[in-house]
Amino acid sequence: MMTADQKSCEHEFRGQSLCGNIAKFKCELCDTCVEYKLEKDEVKEVQRFMDEGSANIAEMHSTWHDFTKRFMNGRGSFIWRGYELMKRVRKWVEQNTFDAKIIKLDDDMHMGSIMLLIDHRLQWEYWGTTVVMIPQNSAQEPCVMFMYPHSVDALVDVLQAIHDEIEINEQHPTKPDDVWDYLNNEIAPHIAPDDSEEGGNAEKA
Ligand SMILES: [Zn+2]
Repeated sequence: MMTADQKSCEHEFRGQSLCGNIAKFKCELCDTCVEYKLEKDEVKEVQRFMDEGSANIAEMHSTWHDFTKRFMNGRGSFIWRGYELMKRVRKWVEQNTFDAKIIKLDDDMHMGSIMLLIDHRLQWEYWGTTVVMIPQNSAQEPCVMFMYPHSVDALVDVLQAIHDEIEINEQHPTKPDDVWDYLNNEIAPHIAPDDSEEGGNAEKA
């Protein structure tokens, strides 16, 4: 039964579902639903968009898929670890114009390691970024995570705050001198040449 509101509505239909050649639409104003049977040329047009859509999805994830094909086995674990993996991944990033970037950092043994960021994107659409932490310490398995745009934004905010803190610390007027400043400024000027001839303080202590 149509209500009075639905009868007087200047419908604004939006597509709800599509099954074969039947498209369902719903009015955004009054919730009236209608089924529409697509004509032959309309079905063709719909199919063209669907094909384009799957091609876009394949392209969107192509860099990540290339990465997994080269560096991971079918069970989702890495073929190499540590330096062997780092070396190969660096070469892969250098040799290609992929949506892949490397950030240098340390693993928890303070060994020079890399964080790899692979974007899932089309020229006009960004879906998110996969992050792979590759420790040089080969006892550790690399770790993979995925960031949606909201995670990227949140990470940028956190990194920006850390960045600001670094700048503030570096400019801090009461920043204490480090041990080398102390040795060079306070001790070195008072060292008499005789001290070294006697073998220095270390041996006396
Ligand atoms: Zn309506």
